[in-house]
Amino acid sequence: MPKLDICDLCLFYTHNPYLVCAIHPTGAAGESCLDFRPNEHQGAADPLEWWEPEGASYYGDELVIEPLQRLTNQQRLELLDTHPMFTGRCPNCEMPIRQTTPARVHWDCERCGWVDDSV
Ligand SMILES: [Zn+2]
Repeated sequence: MPKLDICDLCLFYTHNPYLVCAIHPTGAAGESCLDFRPNEHQGAADPLEWWEPEGASYYGDELVIEPLQRLTNQQRLELLDTHPMFTGRCPNCEMPIRQTTPARVHWDCERCGWVDDSV
């Protein structure tokens, strides 16, 4: 393969004997490559890749970011213990309150009149 010297330093270089790079699979034509990109991130994982917004958590299959993001840790724990979104029942009268499809926004209880004012 007509690999160039700079290919070793390039972001697109595959380190594969049968494929020179993602842009030019059979090698660049000529003495230089217009698509050369210096591989500055080699070996270093970008910490931003692992960044998660504070308060983002999975409950079941749903990623819940708001409104838990606004709450303190203590408030979040209380919400997890009491809120029908997580417990499946009214915190006042224990009446089951089921999730709906599409997901409901308000969790007001039809039996006792408990009104969801936490979210
Ligand atoms: Zn109720």
